Amino acid sequence: MKFATIITIGDELLIGQTIDTNSAWIASTLNSIGIAIKRRIAVSDQWDDIWSALDEESKNADLILITGGLGPTSDDITKPLLARYFNGELIVNQEALDNVVDIFTNKLKRPLLERNLKQAEVPSTCTVIPNKRGTAPGMWFEKEGKIFVSMPGVPHEMKGMMEGYVIPEIQKHFKLNPVLHRTLLTAGIGESFLAELLVPFETNLPSSIKIAYLPNYGMVRIRLTNSDGLEKNILEEQFEKLKALVKDFLVVDRDISLQEHVGEQLIAHHKTLAIAESCTGGYISHLITSIPGSSQFYLGGITSYSNEVKELVLDVPKETLMRLGAVSEEVACKMAEGARHKTGADYAIATTGIMGPGGGTADKPVGLVCVGFSSKEKTTSTVFHFRFDRKRNIELTAIHALDFLRKNMG
Ligand code: AMP
Ligand code: MG
Repeated sequence: MKFATIITIGDELLIGQTIDTNSAWIASTLNSIGIAIKRRIAVSDQWDDIWSALDEESKNADLILITGGLGPTSDDITKPLLARYFNGELIVNQEALDNVVDIFTNKLKRPLLERNLKQAEVPSTCTVIPNKRGTAPGMWFEKEGKIFVSMPGVPHEMKGMMEGYVIPEIQKHFKLNPVLHRTLLTAGIGESFLAELLVPFETNLPSSIKIAYLPNYGMVRIRLTNSDGLEKNILEEQFEKLKALVKDFLVVDRDISLQEHVGEQLIAHHKTLAIAESCTGGYISHLITSIPGSSQFYLGGITSYSNEVKELVLDVPKETLMRLGAVSEEVACKMAEGARHKTGADYAIATTGIMGPGGGTADKPVGLVCVGFSSKEKTTSTVFHFRFDRKRNIELTAIHALDFLRKNMG
């Protein structure tokens, strides 16, 4: 097994201003090609901190991947540090220079500053990694049998380099056993109950297969992983056993999101969807339209936040709104029916609720959510009581509404 450490550099990471998404993405990408992650650490833009992180991490890992600190501003010091660390000097790389000039003159159409030209300088001891998405080149170093790769902090640029250069080079360099994963998604059962149900299964699992429970938004993903280069069918056999054991709760036997699964089902059955959103404010539509190809099944959404829009656009009767209030199962049903009739969709779902922090009453506390579903055959609704902050209440409402759709669309 080969081991990697990921070092992310930047003061903004340590004060929580920027969330370190780079190391999560790199970790999962490396993992999928059979490299284990030893550690993920974040360090500030301080010479000594970066230097000692390189010293320390290269003791434990075969591969050290670094992001950040390659910008043209004074706070970014990674490049001169790497030049010193790997006993080189900064020299202009012609290919990187051509790239910087091309970006400024042809794409940005802005004058080139001296500090931009400096981005084409690289340590003389590195192999340059071209950056097709930006101005800062990446760098590949080898020292005492270890590989060090430095990439920009900008996630989109880092990913381009990883996919276009770093991953293929790593695969050429090391003989790797791919890590095999099989993942399924369950709903309607908590992780503790699942774990109880699976005690005999876990006891009999071959030692090279690891099981992981990944709960999120009230659903639990279960992942089986084989990293020992075992034959694929041994993992498959265990996965089939697992599927049979959780069949009553199984949503999908692949590592996809609930919304992707729902989308696939709609496409497979040639059905269309519309959504009427009050408390989720368009968030469910966003989740749906983030799926490539969602235009095949998604007709559209109505963000009906006020009573007036519920009435005017979705034909929710004023009387119902006055009698029961906007957060009620009947209004959720009327919203779903309205969305379906207005768009001509086969199915519609609707959300109305109190997301907090204000707006709750004794009768209708913060976290109360009504979800409606409508199809040609039936209209139905359900109620949830969430107890989190506004953001999480919105996310939970979206996932539970999609799950309500899944259960009702038959
Ligand atoms: P830098 O290469 O240090 O100039 O970083 C450029 C930008 O990339 C920063 O302003 C951050 O917004 C972003 N960035 C840097 N490191 C990370 C990281 N680990 N995860 C996500 N974004 C990052
Ligand atoms: Mg920086």
